[in-house]
Amino acid sequence: MARKDHGAIFRMGAVQLVQEKQAELLTARELLLGGYGRISDDQEDEGTGDRGAGVARQREAVDQVCKLMSITSQPLVWTVAAWYEDNDVSAFKDVVRPQFELMLEDLRNGTIDGIVVYDLDRLARRPVDLEKVIDIYDRAAKEGRQLFFATAQDKIDLASADGLTLARVMVAFANKASRDTARRVALKHREVALTGRPVGGTRPFGWQWTDGKAPLTLKDGRVIAAGKRQHAVLEAEAKVIEQAAQDVLLGVSLTTICRDLNQRGIRTTRGNEWRPGPLRLMLESPRLAGFRVHQGTFIADKEGTAFVKGEWDPILDEDTWQQVFDTLQAKGSGHRKNEGRRSYLLSGLLQCSQCGGSMSANARSDGSHFYACKPRTGQKGKAGCGKVTCSGRAVEALIEAAMKQRMAISTLTVHEEDTWPDEDELAATKAQMRALMPQLVEAEGQARQLLNAEFTKLSDRVEELQAERARWVFQHGRSVRHAKVGPEDWDDMTVDKRRAYVEEEITAIVVRPAVQRSNRFDYTRLSIVWRTDEPPAD
Ligand SMILES: [Zn+2]
Repeated sequence: MARKDHGAIFRMGAVQLVQEKQAELLTARELLLGGYGRISDDQEDEGTGDRGAGVARQREAVDQVCKLMSITSQPLVWTVAAWYEDNDVSAFKDVVRPQFELMLEDLRNGTIDGIVVYDLDRLARRPVDLEKVIDIYDRAAKEGRQLFFATAQDKIDLASADGLTLARVMVAFANKASRDTARRVALKHREVALTGRPVGGTRPFGWQWTDGKAPLTLKDGRVIAAGKRQHAVLEAEAKVIEQAAQDVLLGVSLTTICRDLNQRGIRTTRGNEWRPGPLRLMLESPRLAGFRVHQGTFIADKEGTAFVKGEWDPILDEDTWQQVFDTLQAKGSGHRKNEGRRSYLLSGLLQCSQCGGSMSANARSDGSHFYACKPRTGQKGKAGCGKVTCSGRAVEALIEAAMKQRMAISTLTVHEEDTWPDEDELAATKAQMRALMPQLVEAEGQARQLLNAEFTKLSDRVEELQAERARWVFQHGRSVRHAKVGPEDWDDMTVDKRRAYVEEEITAIVVRPAVQRSNRFDYTRLSIVWRTDEPPAD
């Protein structure tokens, strides 16, 4: 029997083992629970605007629940063994929550014995999510393994029929409320668009937000009242746009314009260097001529007689903008015809893993094409090492699928073959810790100190690994939907337009040499380097 040791509290990542309790209750069973917190971006009840604080409060509540449950369900000891949180994600939208999925995985494989949440609607707002959870509880029960569940708001027993019914009803209501909210938001957006009010968030290049304290008088006499969103023309950037428009009309290539802008240190509103794709999107936007754009296109006013004007001064007059637009559109096809070469989705974006050189597209006589690090003789471009080539169709199909996925959902699934590499080590380290626990409770004197040291070492490692995993999941599992288009628009886009979106999202795609000759393309040869996850400007 271990002696009482009030000072010894071991930290293992999120796990807190209260030694004293363990010693007193040898029959006590320690439940390792997964705490889950989530803040959605359509959250209104948090009120503080500080989403992190919201999760902190949920976490506090979860700890509180565990303390309570430990008292009321003695000799079971409820401890939060792991904390999972999905931040900034609405559970209603058709998204995958990476930490939620991780938690379910841990629940399935026995790493945790149950879930504690602040409120059922944090856990699941869609019935399908709740069913996933219930399914795991059901299966465990059939295998004779009891799983636990608690919320700070309601007492719900997922192991009982009444509890299940209650949970389902609650989620059904939450789901309906979410859908109503989504519909309201969509209607609201269209309504706002009809007023011509600018889209909030990142400013578009050429304009800046005013502080809105004074009324803003537009050139055509409209007055934007104080307290409203106000876009004022930013003269320096307006000049850049005017110049770029003139250059386009003179036949200067977008690449040349970008090079010039970048050399002059002019950056996009996201702080990036200019690339032809984004520059083109910017110049093609009707916003420049003073039109309000909704979902990427003009909107007709309520009478259907005119396009809605934005509540801002245009930078280009309508004719100039139209000419620029037409020129850019024509250039897409004309360019290809004149120079006798096609435009390829990924030229310049694919990068050879061997020499770092940029891979160019090469047409075959059968109409197919391939990308190679060494251009064929007679073509322009720096000579690469020539060790890497890949099928154009296969790589493009993959990138297009990835782009569509990225457009469709705000959180990407972590693919099966794309799991965090150290998952095994984490599981093994946790298992070692659990194996050590009973000995630790029993041990005394020097043996105990040794075990203590061992335990601390393991728990530090677990903490380290969990932090790494969280970072990894964040980097691999998070993305933001492009505001302008959905995946259904992709197939109608020209190659140039698609390219623009690809450039907007992807910095580079690294291609490794083929390991063996095969008819099927080996997708593990590719690594996609995504750009930032912040949402693009309107
Ligand atoms: Zn190379």
